[in-house]
Amino acid sequence: MIGTTLPRPASTDRLRLNWIQSFLVVSLHVCGLLCFWIWPRAIDLALFLGLYFCTTFAIGIGYHRLLTHRGFKCNTWLRRILTWMGAAALQGGPARWARIHRRHHQATDKHGDPHTPLMGFLHAHMGWIMRRDAEEGSDYRELVPDVSGDDPWLRVLDKGALFTLPWFLTGIFCYVLAGWRGVLWGTIARTLTLWHFTWCINSVCHVWGQRPNNTKDESRNVWWLGLATFGEGWHNNHHARPTAAVHGWQWYEVDLSGYVIRLLARVGIIWQVVRAPRG
Ligand SMILES: [Zn+2]
Ligand SMILES: [Zn+2]
Repeated sequence: MIGTTLPRPASTDRLRLNWIQSFLVVSLHVCGLLCFWIWPRAIDLALFLGLYFCTTFAIGIGYHRLLTHRGFKCNTWLRRILTWMGAAALQGGPARWARIHRRHHQATDKHGDPHTPLMGFLHAHMGWIMRRDAEEGSDYRELVPDVSGDDPWLRVLDKGALFTLPWFLTGIFCYVLAGWRGVLWGTIARTLTLWHFTWCINSVCHVWGQRPNNTKDESRNVWWLGLATFGEGWHNNHHARPTAAVHGWQWYEVDLSGYVIRLLARVGIIWQVVRAPRG
């Protein structure tokens, strides 16, 4: 358990809301309450699971391990598919996501970390998303020019609120296949579920869990988050070797994204995979 704290945001900072993200976070949670009354049919569950798998892999393999940490190389079409599916998780455009996450690695659990639990558990979990980022108003594509490059299919997702476009497309897909109940489970409930599991990496994985590597931060391995996020929960491993494309280093550290990366490398679809120190 962490013992020190960092100053919490001043009250004036708390009021500096990111209106687009605050609206999305609040309204989606309100809509999600309908799940307590409207139970899923088989097709709704299939949409929930299918899109959860696609977007969780896309955030872990695409946004995180490929774009942010450059853990492997792939061709343009695969990068575009992973990035658009990642945007369908409604976690912001790829350059903004990568920039904020790189700042987390540069100053982990120190001043400048956008979401350390040392500023409060709720701040680390979801509070930071509803506030304006320290670099809000900047063109994130220029701050991390390697992420989108000059690829218009990637750059468009960091323009205004266009990162929501792939998410709306999944909503239309669910509506066409299964009506409004399909939208509720396949889009809203699926997004909320992945949001909270992803946010747990920033909150839970810096407070509770195992620390097999002696990193200079509070990062932890949390097995159940390793399962739920397809490998992102092995967060202490990840902080020990951020560029390694595989996060589960022991046979029992289940890392579905890592297994997919190994498979894609074996068949030659991706290459130059940055290897983990063991496992
Ligand atoms: Zn971390
Ligand atoms: Zn990372």
